[in-house]
Amino acid sequence: MHDNYTAIREEVAKLCQQYPGEYWRGKDRERAYPTEFVTALGDAGYLAALIPEEFGGAGLPISGAAAILEEIQKQGCNGGACHAQMYIMGTLLRHGSDTQKATYLPKIANGELRLQAFGVTEPTSGTDTLALRTTAKLDGDHYVVNGQKIWTSRIEHSDLLLLLARTTPRDEAVKKTDGLSVFLVNVNDALGHGLTIRPIETMMNHSTTEVFFEDMRVPAANLIGEEGQGFKYILSGMNAERLLIAAECIGDAKWFIDKATNYAKERVLFGRPIGQNQGVQFPIARAYAQMRAAELLVHEGLRKYEAGENCGEEANMSKLLAADASWAAGEACVQTHGGFGFAAEYDIERKFRETRLYQVAPISTNMILSFVAEHVLGLPRSY
Ligand SMILES: Cc1cc2nc3c(=O)[nH]c(=O)nc-3n(C[C@H](O)[C@H](O)[C@H](O)COP(=O)(O)OP(=O)(O)OC[C@H]3O[C@@H](n4cnc5c(N)ncnc54)[C@H](O)[C@@H]3O)c2cc1C
Repeated sequence: MHDNYTAIREEVAKLCQQYPGEYWRGKDRERAYPTEFVTALGDAGYLAALIPEEFGGAGLPISGAAAILEEIQKQGCNGGACHAQMYIMGTLLRHGSDTQKATYLPKIANGELRLQAFGVTEPTSGTDTLALRTTAKLDGDHYVVNGQKIWTSRIEHSDLLLLLARTTPRDEAVKKTDGLSVFLVNVNDALGHGLTIRPIETMMNHSTTEVFFEDMRVPAANLIGEEGQGFKYILSGMNAERLLIAAECIGDAKWFIDKATNYAKERVLFGRPIGQNQGVQFPIARAYAQMRAAELLVHEGLRKYEAGENCGEEANMSKLLAADASWAAGEACVQTHGGFGFAAEYDIERKFRETRLYQVAPISTNMILSFVAEHVLGLPRSY
């Protein structure tokens, strides 16, 4: 890894401190998008961390982006509102044409265009991505898109959508993994012209939606890479996504552990701080140990990623362990606070709801265990 990014972390922490619990509670109550926070992060250049300098970004290695996201969560903020802006442009960067990169990346880097949304998941196919049903058919110099996506987060706050759709029927594809393609959809052009967005109410404030495509026309020039190779392109970004989400979970775990530890020292009952009781100490200490183990694995994954080595094992396992650690830390934090753990003004119940997502998205725990079983341990493929 590069370094610990101490200076960047300090700057991110300073920015985050302008958006305290009160700000997030208000957004949570109203289920409103934290536009001010996201704009401030963008203006400070953090959302362009991974965009190369030649396109106007900071050109940081992935460990820099991980440090930024971890710090955001550690400060009690929610990077889920904008984390995708950091990593989904990787598909464009790695597989886009020179013209596409020159057209979009500088504008994404300077905030003129927001690339916050990606549409992979569908209601009927879920984790089984190859079974997705949204189709894109070439018609002259456009593709015509029909179908539906679900859990397309932040699309209402994004100018661009990275869309995965089927361009060759499944039974006609040469290889099982062929036949899907990636498109960059201009959301503003498409709205009202075949694109409909419906927000979904969720357990936490996440600006997620279902989207419907009815003869939505996308210029053929917006196809990324080769037609039919989209599944590979999406897969190629997954290790980065796993590592960055894992870093966010580490930040959440640190926030919960810090909060629980401070409260356990201050809250006095029966003439002594509750933190003097082992029954209160141990869950916090265990969560700390879990968090540190996961953090070391995240760092190992980042190191391998940056060295160009295959980090699939570490990326997947660190996402699994970090999500478990943040959940264990959240649980310990609620329990340490007793009834106050349930009071909105302590922010614990909000963070508790927010961090629960990472057991399910962007990849659920079972699928990671399947990956480890099959690809690391050599057990038979289970699905
Ligand atoms: C708030 C939120 C935001 C999201 N944002 C986005 C987004 O922006 N873009 C996007 O494309 N997607 C997004 N997702 C979708 C997310 O990636 C999926 O929810 C996740 O991958 C799980 O898919 P699913 O919900 O269809 O569950 P399913 O695939 O239906 O799975 C249901 C359960 O069955 C288990 N399961 C399924 N198959 C197997 C098997 N073979 N072996 C063992 N267990 C199995 C799963 O682990 C899971 O626990 C988001 C989801 C949420 C909740």
